[in-house]
Amino acid sequence: MLSTMQDVPLLISRILTHGSTIHGKSQVTTWTGEAEPHRRSFAEVGARAAQLAHALRDSCGVTDASAIGTLMWNNAEHVEAYLAIPSMGAVLHTLNLRLPAEQLIWIVNHAADRVVIVNGSLLPLLAPLLPHLPTLEHLVVSGPGDRSLLDDIDGGGPQIHEYEELIAGRPTTYDWPQLDERSAAAMCYTSGTTGDPKGVVYSHRSIYLHSMQVNMSESMALTDQDTTLVVVPQFHVNAWGLPHATFMSGVSMLMPDRFLQPAPLADMIERERPTHAAAVPTIWQGLLAEVTAHPRDLTSMRNVTIGGAACPPSLMEAYDKIGVRLCHAWGMTETSPLGTMSNPPAGLSAEEEWPYRITQGRFPAGVEARLAGSDGAFLPWDGVSAGELEVRGPWIAGAYFGGAGGEDFRPDDKFSPDGWLRTGDVGVISPDGYLTLTDRAKDVIKSGGEWISSQELENALMAHPEVAEAAVVAVPDTKWGERPLATVVLRPGATVDYAALKAFLATRIAKWQLPERWALVEAVPKTSVGKFDKKVIRRQYADGELDVTELR
Ligand code: ADP
Repeated sequence: MLSTMQDVPLLISRILTHGSTIHGKSQVTTWTGEAEPHRRSFAEVGARAAQLAHALRDSCGVTDASAIGTLMWNNAEHVEAYLAIPSMGAVLHTLNLRLPAEQLIWIVNHAADRVVIVNGSLLPLLAPLLPHLPTLEHLVVSGPGDRSLLDDIDGGGPQIHEYEELIAGRPTTYDWPQLDERSAAAMCYTSGTTGDPKGVVYSHRSIYLHSMQVNMSESMALTDQDTTLVVVPQFHVNAWGLPHATFMSGVSMLMPDRFLQPAPLADMIERERPTHAAAVPTIWQGLLAEVTAHPRDLTSMRNVTIGGAACPPSLMEAYDKIGVRLCHAWGMTETSPLGTMSNPPAGLSAEEEWPYRITQGRFPAGVEARLAGSDGAFLPWDGVSAGELEVRGPWIAGAYFGGAGGEDFRPDDKFSPDGWLRTGDVGVISPDGYLTLTDRAKDVIKSGGEWISSQELENALMAHPEVAEAAVVAVPDTKWGERPLATVVLRPGATVDYAALKAFLATRIAKWQLPERWALVEAVPKTSVGKFDKKVIRRQYADGELDVTELR
Protein backbone atom coordinates (compact mmCIF):
# COMPACT_ATOMS: atom_id res chain seq x y z
CA MET A 1 0.00 0.00 0.00
CA LEU A 2 1.33 3.43 -0.84
CA SER A 3 0.75 6.41 1.39
CA THR A 4 -1.93 8.99 0.75
CA MET A 5 0.55 11.86 1.00
CA GLN A 6 1.36 14.38 -1.73
CA ASP A 7 4.49 13.51 -3.66
CA VAL A 8 6.00 16.99 -3.74
CA PRO A 9 9.68 17.00 -4.76
CA LEU A 10 12.24 18.44 -2.35
CA LEU A 11 13.79 21.22 -4.44
CA ILE A 12 16.26 24.06 -3.88
CA SER A 13 13.82 26.42 -5.63
CA ARG A 14 11.50 25.79 -2.68
CA ILE A 15 14.24 26.80 -0.25
CA LEU A 16 14.89 29.93 -2.33
CA THR A 17 11.23 30.94 -2.52
CA HIS A 18 10.62 30.22 1.14
CA GLY A 19 13.70 32.11 2.36
CA SER A 20 13.17 35.15 0.20
CA THR A 21 9.50 35.55 1.15
CA ILE A 22 8.90 34.17 4.65
CA HIS A 23 12.36 35.30 5.78
CA GLY A 24 12.73 38.19 3.35
CA LYS A 25 14.18 40.52 5.99
CA SER A 26 17.04 38.23 7.02
CA GLN A 27 20.33 39.45 5.65
CA VAL A 28 23.49 38.47 3.85
CA THR A 29 26.21 40.82 5.06
CA THR A 30 29.46 40.77 3.09
CA TRP A 31 32.65 42.19 4.57
CA THR A 32 34.26 44.72 2.24
CA GLY A 33 37.29 45.85 4.21
CA GLU A 34 35.72 49.36 4.13
CA ALA A 35 34.04 51.17 7.01
CA GLU A 36 30.67 49.61 6.19
CA PRO A 37 30.03 46.04 5.06
CA HIS A 38 27.64 45.38 2.22
CA ARG A 39 24.12 44.31 3.25
CA ARG A 40 21.48 42.59 1.16
CA SER A 41 18.19 41.17 2.38
CA PHE A 42 17.08 37.62 1.58
CA ALA A 43 14.28 39.19 -0.46
CA GLU A 44 16.85 41.03 -2.58
CA VAL A 45 19.08 37.96 -2.86
CA GLY A 46 16.07 35.92 -4.01
CA ALA A 47 15.12 38.55 -6.62
CA ARG A 48 18.70 38.74 -7.87
CA ALA A 49 18.92 34.93 -8.01
CA ALA A 50 15.92 34.99 -10.35
CA GLN A 51 17.66 37.66 -12.45
CA LEU A 52 20.79 35.55 -12.58
CA ALA A 53 18.79 32.54 -13.74
CA HIS A 54 17.24 34.63 -16.54
CA ALA A 55 20.68 35.87 -17.53
CA LEU A 56 22.21 32.39 -17.56
CA ARG A 57 19.34 31.06 -19.65
CA ASP A 58 18.88 33.94 -22.07
CA SER A 59 22.44 35.25 -22.48
CA CYS A 60 24.52 32.15 -21.77
CA GLY A 61 22.21 29.51 -23.24
CA VAL A 62 21.93 27.42 -20.07
CA THR A 63 18.79 25.37 -20.62
CA ASP A 64 19.82 21.98 -19.31
CA ALA A 65 21.73 20.37 -16.43
CA SER A 66 25.07 21.90 -17.47
CA ALA A 67 27.69 22.47 -14.80
CA ILE A 68 28.22 26.12 -13.89
CA GLY A 69 31.46 26.78 -12.03
CA THR A 70 31.93 29.37 -9.30
CA LEU A 71 35.41 30.58 -8.40
CA MET A 72 34.38 32.92 -5.63
CA TRP A 73 34.86 33.97 -2.04
CA ASN A 74 32.00 33.77 0.45
CA ASN A 75 29.74 36.67 -0.47
CA ALA A 76 26.16 37.60 -1.42
CA GLU A 77 26.70 36.96 -5.13
CA HIS A 78 27.97 33.48 -4.38
CA VAL A 79 24.79 32.83 -2.37
CA GLU A 80 22.78 34.02 -5.38
CA ALA A 81 24.60 31.47 -7.52
CA TYR A 82 23.97 28.77 -4.89
CA LEU A 83 20.25 29.39 -5.17
CA ALA A 84 19.78 30.26 -8.85
CA ILE A 85 21.86 27.59 -10.55
CA PRO A 86 20.28 24.46 -9.00
CA SER A 87 16.80 26.01 -8.99
CA MET A 88 16.87 26.53 -12.76
CA GLY A 89 17.94 22.90 -13.30
CA ALA A 90 21.68 23.46 -13.84
CA VAL A 91 24.43 22.18 -11.56
CA LEU A 92 26.39 24.43 -9.21
CA HIS A 93 30.05 23.45 -9.35
CA THR A 94 32.07 25.21 -6.65
CA LEU A 95 35.76 25.51 -7.52
CA ASN A 96 38.40 25.45 -4.82
CA LEU A 97 40.46 28.59 -5.35
CA ARG A 98 43.41 27.16 -3.44
CA LEU A 99 43.99 24.19 -5.74
CA PRO A 100 47.08 24.05 -7.93
CA ALA A 101 46.41 25.24 -11.51
CA GLU A 102 46.63 21.79 -13.07
CA GLN A 103 44.00 20.38 -10.68
CA LEU A 104 41.63 23.27 -11.35
CA ILE A 105 41.99 22.71 -15.08
CA TRP A 106 41.39 18.99 -14.63
CA ILE A 107 38.26 19.56 -12.56
CA VAL A 108 36.67 22.20 -14.83
CA ASN A 109 37.26 19.96 -17.84
CA HIS A 110 36.03 16.83 -16.09
CA ALA A 111 32.79 18.54 -15.08
CA ALA A 112 32.61 20.26 -18.51
CA ASP A 113 31.76 23.63 -16.94
CA ARG A 114 30.11 25.82 -19.61
CA VAL A 115 29.99 28.98 -17.55
CA VAL A 116 32.21 30.14 -14.71
CA ILE A 117 31.29 32.97 -12.36
CA VAL A 118 34.47 34.45 -10.93
CA ASN A 119 35.27 37.16 -8.43
CA GLY A 120 37.36 39.89 -10.06
CA SER A 121 40.03 39.53 -7.37
CA LEU A 122 40.57 35.93 -8.54
CA LEU A 123 41.21 36.79 -12.19
CA PRO A 124 45.00 36.56 -11.69
CA LEU A 125 44.37 32.91 -10.85
CA LEU A 126 41.83 32.13 -13.57
CA ALA A 127 42.98 34.19 -16.58
CA PRO A 128 46.12 32.10 -17.29
CA LEU A 129 44.03 28.90 -17.19
CA LEU A 130 41.48 30.00 -19.79
CA PRO A 131 43.33 28.63 -22.84
CA HIS A 132 43.14 25.19 -21.18
CA LEU A 133 39.37 25.26 -20.57
CA PRO A 134 37.79 24.30 -23.92
CA THR A 135 34.28 23.69 -22.54
CA LEU A 136 33.99 27.21 -21.14
CA GLU A 137 31.65 29.38 -23.23
CA HIS A 138 30.93 32.26 -20.84
CA LEU A 139 32.85 33.94 -18.05
CA VAL A 140 30.91 36.16 -15.65
CA VAL A 141 33.03 38.53 -13.55
CA SER A 142 31.74 39.86 -10.23
CA GLY A 143 33.17 42.42 -7.83
CA PRO A 144 36.41 44.40 -7.77
CA GLY A 145 39.47 43.25 -9.70
CA ASP A 146 41.63 44.01 -12.69
CA ARG A 147 39.64 43.23 -15.87
CA SER A 148 42.63 44.01 -18.09
CA LEU A 149 43.88 40.53 -17.28
CA LEU A 150 41.26 39.32 -19.74
CA ASP A 151 42.39 41.62 -22.55
CA ASP A 152 44.49 39.00 -24.26
CA ILE A 153 41.75 36.42 -24.67
CA ASP A 154 41.51 35.64 -28.34
CA GLY A 155 38.32 35.03 -30.35
CA GLY A 156 38.18 31.37 -29.35
CA GLY A 157 37.96 32.12 -25.62
CA PRO A 158 34.82 32.47 -23.52
CA GLN A 159 32.50 35.44 -23.88
CA ILE A 160 33.09 37.84 -20.98
CA HIS A 161 30.22 39.39 -18.98
CA GLU A 162 30.01 41.73 -16.00
CA TYR A 163 27.79 40.14 -13.33
CA GLU A 164 25.90 43.33 -12.47
CA GLU A 165 25.38 44.32 -16.11
CA LEU A 166 24.33 40.79 -17.00
CA ILE A 167 21.56 40.57 -14.42
CA ALA A 168 20.42 44.23 -14.51
CA GLY A 169 16.85 44.84 -15.66
CA ARG A 170 15.91 41.15 -15.82
CA PRO A 171 12.65 39.93 -14.22
CA THR A 172 12.93 39.41 -10.47
CA THR A 173 10.84 36.26 -10.48
CA TYR A 174 11.41 33.03 -12.39
CA ASP A 175 9.14 30.16 -13.21
CA TRP A 176 11.34 27.54 -11.53
CA PRO A 177 10.99 24.12 -13.20
CA GLN A 178 9.48 21.15 -11.36
CA LEU A 179 12.56 18.95 -11.35
CA ASP A 180 13.01 15.37 -10.19
CA GLU A 181 14.27 15.74 -6.62
CA ARG A 182 16.95 13.13 -7.35
CA SER A 183 18.49 15.20 -10.13
CA ALA A 184 21.89 16.83 -9.76
CA ALA A 185 21.91 20.19 -7.95
CA ALA A 186 25.55 20.78 -7.03
CA MET A 187 28.94 19.16 -7.22
CA CYS A 188 32.18 19.28 -5.34
CA TYR A 189 35.49 17.49 -5.95
CA THR A 190 37.54 15.94 -3.17
CA SER A 191 41.01 17.37 -2.95
CA GLY A 192 42.63 14.42 -4.70
CA THR A 193 45.38 13.73 -2.21
CA THR A 194 45.73 10.35 -3.88
CA GLY A 195 45.06 10.09 -7.61
CA ASP A 196 42.77 12.38 -9.56
CA PRO A 197 40.16 14.46 -7.68
CA LYS A 198 36.82 12.68 -7.37
CA GLY A 199 33.53 14.44 -8.01
CA VAL A 200 30.58 14.11 -5.64
CA VAL A 201 27.22 15.17 -7.09
CA TYR A 202 24.56 16.26 -4.60
CA SER A 203 20.85 16.02 -5.43
CA HIS A 204 18.06 18.50 -4.63
CA ARG A 205 16.72 15.92 -2.22
CA SER A 206 20.05 15.37 -0.45
CA ILE A 207 20.65 19.10 -0.03
CA TYR A 208 17.10 19.72 1.17
CA LEU A 209 17.28 17.00 3.82
CA HIS A 210 20.83 17.98 4.81
CA SER A 211 19.73 21.62 5.24
CA MET A 212 16.99 20.55 7.63
CA GLN A 213 19.50 18.53 9.64
CA VAL A 214 21.99 21.43 9.81
CA ASN A 215 19.33 23.58 11.46
CA MET A 216 18.11 20.95 13.91
CA SER A 217 18.78 21.52 17.58
CA GLU A 218 20.97 18.41 17.76
CA SER A 219 23.16 19.87 14.99
CA MET A 220 23.85 23.61 14.57
CA ALA A 221 20.53 24.64 16.16
CA LEU A 222 20.00 27.68 13.94
CA THR A 223 16.88 29.86 13.81
CA ASP A 224 15.93 33.27 12.45
CA GLN A 225 17.26 34.74 15.71
CA ASP A 226 20.78 33.80 14.58
CA THR A 227 23.49 35.24 12.41
CA THR A 228 26.10 32.78 11.25
CA LEU A 229 29.62 33.77 10.30
CA VAL A 230 30.39 31.48 7.37
CA VAL A 231 34.17 31.25 7.44
CA VAL A 232 34.26 27.79 5.91
CA PRO A 233 34.64 28.53 2.20
CA GLN A 234 31.68 28.03 -0.09
CA PHE A 235 33.99 25.80 -2.13
CA HIS A 236 34.56 23.50 0.88
CA VAL A 237 31.64 21.06 0.79
CA ASN A 238 28.98 23.72 0.18
CA ALA A 239 30.18 25.76 3.16
CA TRP A 240 28.97 22.80 5.25
CA GLY A 241 25.45 23.32 3.98
CA LEU A 242 25.00 26.77 5.48
CA PRO A 243 23.93 28.85 2.45
CA HIS A 244 20.96 26.55 1.83
CA ALA A 245 20.18 25.82 5.50
CA THR A 246 20.09 29.52 6.36
CA PHE A 247 17.59 30.27 3.62
CA MET A 248 15.40 27.51 4.98
CA SER A 249 15.24 29.00 8.47
CA GLY A 250 15.91 32.70 7.92
CA VAL A 251 19.34 32.66 9.56
CA SER A 252 21.27 35.79 8.59
CA MET A 253 24.72 35.22 7.11
CA LEU A 254 27.91 37.17 7.70
CA MET A 255 30.28 36.53 4.79
CA PRO A 256 33.99 37.36 5.11
CA ASP A 257 34.66 37.56 1.34
CA ARG A 258 38.47 37.53 0.98
CA PHE A 259 39.12 38.86 4.51
CA LEU A 260 39.96 35.53 6.11
CA GLN A 261 42.94 36.61 8.21
CA PRO A 262 42.54 36.51 12.03
CA ALA A 263 42.49 40.32 12.49
CA PRO A 264 39.57 41.11 10.13
CA LEU A 265 37.71 38.02 11.40
CA ALA A 266 38.03 39.30 14.98
CA ASP A 267 36.88 42.76 13.86
CA MET A 268 33.84 41.44 12.04
CA ILE A 269 32.80 39.32 15.02
CA GLU A 270 33.13 42.22 17.42
CA ARG A 271 31.24 44.61 15.14
CA GLU A 272 28.55 42.40 13.61
CA ARG A 273 28.04 40.11 16.62
CA PRO A 274 27.23 36.78 14.92
CA THR A 275 25.73 34.13 17.20
CA HIS A 276 27.23 31.16 15.32
CA ALA A 277 30.23 30.47 13.13
CA ALA A 278 31.75 27.55 11.25
CA ALA A 279 35.38 26.88 10.33
CA VAL A 280 38.25 24.37 10.51
CA PRO A 281 40.51 24.27 13.61
CA THR A 282 43.31 26.23 11.90
CA ILE A 283 41.05 29.29 11.70
CA TRP A 284 40.12 29.05 15.38
CA GLN A 285 43.77 28.62 16.38
CA GLY A 286 44.68 31.77 14.45
CA LEU A 287 41.78 33.75 15.86
CA LEU A 288 42.67 32.73 19.41
CA ALA A 289 46.25 33.95 18.97
CA GLU A 290 44.90 37.22 17.55
CA VAL A 291 42.50 37.95 20.40
CA THR A 292 45.08 36.89 22.97
CA ALA A 293 47.45 39.53 21.57
CA HIS A 294 44.77 42.16 20.81
CA PRO A 295 41.60 41.42 22.82
CA ARG A 296 38.22 41.63 21.04
CA ASP A 297 34.79 40.62 22.25
CA LEU A 298 33.80 37.31 20.66
CA THR A 299 31.09 36.44 23.17
CA SER A 300 28.18 37.04 20.80
CA MET A 301 28.96 33.57 19.40
CA ARG A 302 26.91 31.25 21.56
CA ASN A 303 27.80 28.28 19.43
CA VAL A 304 30.64 27.59 17.02
CA THR A 305 30.91 24.60 14.70
CA ILE A 306 34.46 23.33 14.35
CA GLY A 307 35.25 20.43 12.05
CA GLY A 308 36.96 19.18 8.94
CA ALA A 309 39.90 18.08 11.11
CA ALA A 310 40.23 16.98 14.73
CA CYS A 311 39.68 19.77 17.23
CA PRO A 312 42.32 19.65 20.00
CA PRO A 313 40.51 19.61 23.39
CA SER A 314 42.94 22.31 24.55
CA LEU A 315 41.50 24.62 21.91
CA MET A 316 37.99 23.95 23.18
CA GLU A 317 39.11 24.73 26.72
CA ALA A 318 40.78 27.96 25.65
CA TYR A 319 37.56 29.12 23.95
CA ASP A 320 35.47 28.05 26.94
CA LYS A 321 37.59 30.46 28.98
CA ILE A 322 36.69 33.39 26.73
CA GLY A 323 33.00 32.48 26.74
CA VAL A 324 32.75 30.83 23.32
CA ARG A 325 31.56 27.24 23.05
CA LEU A 326 33.04 25.13 20.28
CA CYS A 327 31.04 22.16 19.04
CA HIS A 328 33.03 19.48 17.25
CA ALA A 329 31.70 18.08 13.96
CA TRP A 330 32.88 15.37 11.59
CA GLY A 331 32.13 15.10 7.90
CA MET A 332 33.47 14.64 4.41
CA THR A 333 32.83 15.90 0.88
CA GLU A 334 31.05 12.57 0.38
CA THR A 335 28.73 13.18 3.37
CA SER A 336 27.44 16.65 2.32
CA PRO A 337 29.25 17.03 4.90
CA LEU A 338 27.28 16.71 8.16
CA GLY A 339 28.11 13.30 9.66
CA THR A 340 28.27 13.87 13.41
CA MET A 341 28.13 16.74 15.90
CA SER A 342 29.24 16.60 19.51
CA ASN A 343 26.31 18.12 21.37
CA PRO A 344 26.20 16.22 24.68
CA PRO A 345 23.06 14.46 25.90
CA ALA A 346 20.70 16.61 27.95
CA GLY A 347 20.83 17.06 31.69
CA LEU A 348 24.57 16.87 32.33
CA SER A 349 26.81 19.16 34.34
CA ALA A 350 29.67 20.93 32.53
CA GLU A 351 32.05 18.37 33.92
CA GLU A 352 29.92 15.46 32.74
CA GLU A 353 29.49 17.06 29.31
CA TRP A 354 33.22 17.30 28.68
CA PRO A 355 33.90 13.66 27.66
CA TYR A 356 31.10 13.97 25.08
CA ARG A 357 32.23 17.35 23.76
CA ILE A 358 35.71 16.11 22.88
CA THR A 359 34.40 13.25 20.75
CA GLN A 360 33.65 13.83 17.06
CA GLY A 361 29.98 13.63 18.06
CA ARG A 362 26.91 11.52 17.51
CA PHE A 363 25.09 10.55 14.38
CA PRO A 364 21.78 12.13 13.42
CA ALA A 365 18.89 9.93 12.32
CA GLY A 366 19.85 10.49 8.66
CA VAL A 367 23.29 8.93 9.06
CA GLU A 368 23.64 5.20 9.82
CA ALA A 369 27.07 4.07 10.96
CA ARG A 370 28.99 0.85 11.42
CA LEU A 371 32.61 -0.02 12.18
CA ALA A 372 34.43 -2.54 10.00
CA GLY A 373 37.28 -4.51 11.57
CA SER A 374 40.42 -5.42 9.63
CA ASP A 375 38.96 -8.87 8.87
CA GLY A 376 35.81 -7.29 7.46
CA ALA A 377 33.61 -8.27 10.44
CA PHE A 378 31.58 -5.46 12.02
CA LEU A 379 32.56 -4.35 15.50
CA PRO A 380 30.38 -3.53 18.49
CA TRP A 381 29.68 0.02 19.63
CA ASP A 382 31.47 -0.49 22.91
CA GLY A 383 33.74 2.55 22.93
CA VAL A 384 36.79 0.29 22.66
CA SER A 385 36.70 -1.73 19.43
CA ALA A 386 38.41 0.32 16.71
CA GLY A 387 37.59 -0.09 13.04
CA GLU A 388 36.97 1.80 9.81
CA LEU A 389 33.85 3.90 9.91
CA GLU A 390 31.26 3.15 7.21
CA VAL A 391 28.14 5.28 6.76
CA ARG A 392 24.99 5.41 4.68
CA GLY A 393 22.07 7.77 4.40
CA PRO A 394 20.11 10.10 2.11
CA TRP A 395 22.89 12.73 2.01
CA ILE A 396 25.81 10.28 1.72
CA ALA A 397 27.42 9.68 -1.71
CA GLY A 398 26.80 6.30 -3.32
CA ALA A 399 29.26 6.79 -6.20
CA TYR A 400 31.62 9.32 -7.82
CA PHE A 401 30.91 11.32 -10.94
CA GLY A 402 32.30 9.73 -14.10
CA GLY A 403 32.65 12.98 -16.04
CA ALA A 404 30.53 14.31 -18.89
CA GLY A 405 29.37 11.25 -20.82
CA GLY A 406 31.24 8.89 -18.46
CA GLU A 407 29.84 6.33 -16.04
CA ASP A 408 29.69 6.98 -12.32
CA PHE A 409 32.12 4.76 -10.46
CA ARG A 410 32.43 3.06 -7.08
CA PRO A 411 35.99 2.13 -6.13
CA ASP A 412 36.11 -0.87 -3.77
CA ASP A 413 38.16 1.01 -1.20
CA LYS A 414 35.46 3.70 -1.04
CA PHE A 415 32.21 1.72 -1.20
CA SER A 416 31.33 -1.62 0.36
CA PRO A 417 29.63 -4.27 -1.78
CA ASP A 418 26.31 -3.38 -0.11
CA GLY A 419 26.73 0.30 -0.94
CA TRP A 420 27.96 1.90 2.30
CA LEU A 421 30.58 4.65 2.10
CA ARG A 422 33.96 3.56 3.45
CA THR A 423 35.18 6.75 5.09
CA GLY A 424 38.85 5.84 5.52
CA ASP A 425 38.53 7.12 9.10
CA VAL A 426 39.40 4.85 12.01
CA GLY A 427 37.77 5.14 15.40
CA VAL A 428 35.44 3.78 18.06
CA ILE A 429 31.75 4.38 18.77
CA SER A 430 30.31 4.45 22.28
CA PRO A 431 27.13 2.51 23.12
CA ASP A 432 25.17 5.79 22.95
CA GLY A 433 26.45 6.55 19.44
CA TYR A 434 29.31 9.02 19.99
CA LEU A 435 32.16 8.65 17.52
CA THR A 436 35.78 9.11 18.54
CA LEU A 437 38.21 9.09 15.64
CA THR A 438 41.79 8.11 16.21
CA ASP A 439 43.10 8.65 12.71
CA ARG A 440 42.63 8.50 9.02
CA ALA A 441 43.47 4.93 8.01
CA LYS A 442 46.39 6.25 5.99
CA ASP A 443 47.77 8.29 8.91
CA VAL A 444 47.68 5.58 11.58
CA ILE A 445 51.14 4.76 12.96
CA LYS A 446 51.73 1.00 13.00
CA SER A 447 54.45 0.37 15.54
CA GLY A 448 55.44 -3.25 16.16
CA GLY A 449 51.95 -4.47 15.29
CA GLU A 450 50.20 -1.94 17.57
CA TRP A 451 48.44 1.22 16.43
CA ILE A 452 49.43 4.62 17.70
CA SER A 453 46.95 7.44 17.18
CA SER A 454 48.58 10.51 15.63
CA GLN A 455 45.55 12.58 16.68
CA GLU A 456 45.91 11.63 20.31
CA LEU A 457 49.58 12.65 20.29
CA GLU A 458 48.76 15.92 18.53
CA ASN A 459 45.98 16.77 20.98
CA ALA A 460 48.26 16.04 23.92
CA LEU A 461 51.08 18.16 22.48
CA MET A 462 48.80 21.08 21.66
CA ALA A 463 47.65 21.06 25.28
CA HIS A 464 51.14 22.36 26.20
CA PRO A 465 50.90 26.11 26.75
CA GLU A 466 54.01 26.85 24.67
CA VAL A 467 52.93 24.77 21.66
CA ALA A 468 51.02 26.57 18.92
CA GLU A 469 50.56 23.61 16.59
CA ALA A 470 51.77 20.03 16.38
CA ALA A 471 51.42 17.39 13.68
CA VAL A 472 52.52 13.79 14.12
CA VAL A 473 53.20 11.41 11.23
CA ALA A 474 54.44 7.86 10.83
CA VAL A 475 58.02 7.47 9.64
CA PRO A 476 59.80 4.21 8.77
CA ASP A 477 61.72 2.55 11.61
CA THR A 478 63.98 -0.47 11.20
CA LYS A 479 63.01 -2.02 14.52
CA TRP A 480 59.29 -1.22 14.82
CA GLY A 481 58.20 -0.79 11.21
CA GLU A 482 56.89 2.71 11.89
CA ARG A 483 57.31 5.23 14.68
CA PRO A 484 55.83 8.68 15.30
CA LEU A 485 57.66 11.85 14.26
CA ALA A 486 56.43 14.97 16.06
CA THR A 487 56.67 18.28 14.23
CA VAL A 488 56.02 21.22 16.52
CA VAL A 489 55.37 24.93 16.10
CA LEU A 490 56.22 26.83 19.28
CA ARG A 491 54.52 30.00 20.42
CA PRO A 492 56.56 33.21 20.24
CA GLY A 493 58.96 33.44 23.18
CA ALA A 494 58.63 29.74 24.10
CA THR A 495 61.57 28.24 25.96
CA VAL A 496 60.52 24.60 26.17
CA ASP A 497 62.84 21.93 24.71
CA TYR A 498 62.17 18.48 23.29
CA ALA A 499 62.92 16.66 26.53
CA ALA A 500 60.41 18.82 28.40
CA LEU A 501 57.80 18.24 25.71
CA LYS A 502 58.38 14.52 25.85
CA ALA A 503 58.08 14.58 29.65
CA PHE A 504 54.82 16.54 29.30
CA LEU A 505 53.49 13.92 26.87
CA ALA A 506 54.51 11.14 29.23
CA THR A 507 51.96 12.40 31.76
CA ARG A 508 49.16 11.73 29.27
CA ILE A 509 50.28 9.05 26.83
CA ALA A 510 51.59 5.48 27.26
CA LYS A 511 55.40 5.43 27.24
CA TRP A 512 55.74 3.11 24.23
CA GLN A 513 53.75 5.57 22.11
CA LEU A 514 55.99 8.58 22.79
CA PRO A 515 57.82 9.93 19.73
CA GLU A 516 61.61 9.61 19.56
CA ARG A 517 61.90 11.88 16.55
CA TRP A 518 61.21 15.59 16.90
CA ALA A 519 61.44 18.58 14.59
CA LEU A 520 60.66 22.25 15.16
CA VAL A 521 58.95 23.84 12.17
CA GLU A 522 57.82 27.39 11.37
CA ALA A 523 54.35 26.22 10.36
CA VAL A 524 52.60 22.92 9.77
CA PRO A 525 51.95 22.58 6.01
CA LYS A 526 48.22 22.88 5.23
CA THR A 527 45.93 21.53 2.51
CA SER A 528 43.79 23.72 0.28
CA VAL A 529 41.07 23.75 2.94
CA GLY A 530 43.41 24.44 5.87
CA LYS A 531 43.97 20.94 7.28
CA PHE A 532 47.35 19.54 8.31
CA ASP A 533 48.95 18.14 5.15
CA LYS A 534 50.65 15.03 6.47
CA LYS A 535 51.65 13.81 3.04
CA VAL A 536 53.89 16.90 2.72
CA ILE A 537 55.43 16.29 6.17
CA ARG A 538 56.19 12.67 5.28
CA ARG A 539 57.81 13.82 2.04
CA GLN A 540 59.83 16.52 3.85
CA TYR A 541 61.11 13.86 6.24
CA ALA A 542 61.95 11.43 3.45
CA ASP A 543 63.80 14.18 1.56
CA GLY A 544 65.80 15.14 4.65
CA GLU A 545 64.27 18.64 4.72
CA LEU A 546 63.42 18.53 8.43
CA ASP A 547 65.95 19.19 11.17
CA VAL A 548 65.18 16.07 13.20
CA THR A 549 66.44 15.49 16.74
CA GLU A 550 66.31 11.95 18.17
CA LEU A 551 65.50 11.48 21.85
CA ARG A 552 65.74 7.83 22.84
P1 ADP B 1 39.89 16.21 2.16
O1 ADP B 1 40.01 14.71 2.05
O2 ADP B 1 40.34 16.98 1.04
O3 ADP B 1 40.37 16.76 3.48
P2 ADP B 1 37.22 16.35 3.09
O4 ADP B 1 36.89 17.72 3.54
O5 ADP B 1 36.16 15.57 2.44
O6 ADP B 1 38.36 16.48 2.10
O7 ADP B 1 37.85 15.57 4.31
C1 ADP B 1 37.16 14.63 5.05
C2 ADP B 1 38.06 14.06 6.08
O8 ADP B 1 38.46 15.05 7.03
C3 ADP B 1 37.43 12.99 6.91
O9 ADP B 1 37.42 11.75 6.26
C4 ADP B 1 38.32 12.99 8.16
O10 ADP B 1 39.51 12.26 7.94
C5 ADP B 1 38.69 14.45 8.29
N1 ADP B 1 37.82 15.06 9.31
C6 ADP B 1 36.73 15.81 9.11
N2 ADP B 1 36.21 16.22 10.28
C7 ADP B 1 36.99 15.71 11.25
C8 ADP B 1 36.98 15.76 12.69
N3 ADP B 1 36.07 16.45 13.36
N4 ADP B 1 37.94 15.08 13.34
C9 ADP B 1 38.88 14.38 12.70
N5 ADP B 1 38.96 14.31 11.35
C10 ADP B 1 38.03 14.96 10.64
